[in-house]
Amino acid sequence: MSKGNLKKYQKKRDFKKTKEPKGSARGSSDQPIFVIQKHDARNLHYDFRLEIDSVLKSWAVPKGPSTDPSEKRLAILTEDHPIEYAEFEGTIPEGEYGAGTVMVWDKGTYRNLKEESEDESISMEEAFDSGHLTVYLEGEKLRGGYALIDTKRGKNDQWLLIKIDDEQADARRNPVSTEPDSVLTGRSIERIEKEESKD
Ligand code: MN
Repeated sequence: MSKGNLKKYQKKRDFKKTKEPKGSARGSSDQPIFVIQKHDARNLHYDFRLEIDSVLKSWAVPKGPSTDPSEKRLAILTEDHPIEYAEFEGTIPEGEYGAGTVMVWDKGTYRNLKEESEDESISMEEAFDSGHLTVYLEGEKLRGGYALIDTKRGKNDQWLLIKIDDEQADARRNPVSTEPDSVLTGRSIERIEKEESKD
């Protein structure tokens, strides 16, 4: 079931030591949000998060998202995060879960393309449970359709993140390397680390 649950998220963290939000449920807004956080932890990766059922469903994407439909990016399903996490940019202290620097690399709203389909309308919850989501992202760096596909239908946590071949697809763009900085503050990972770890 996809019912949002923050217990695992909260259990892994000591909120006296980390400035990450603890999280509480909130009412759903008209437009669900997505966020992609660049996370310079043990291994640099991109956390792709979609608002589904009052939480952020989350996948860690080691190589980050691509705008090229021929590139399939591994996306490992991780624990649900609170909606407020979408605003989190800062450092997680050494020794804490996910220690390292977090940047809001892209953020915006999305539409569920499966709900717009004429023959069968599928909610995001149902699509998540079936292991196949298609969304239209309206971010600052990423726009257009993306598919998230569970490769083994719940048998492991490995999904694939793939750009849908639409008018926003572009094999020549590579925003992960050409647009590396925060959409929230314009800062680089190095600057966030420097500024957020002194207090
Ligand atoms: Mn992460």
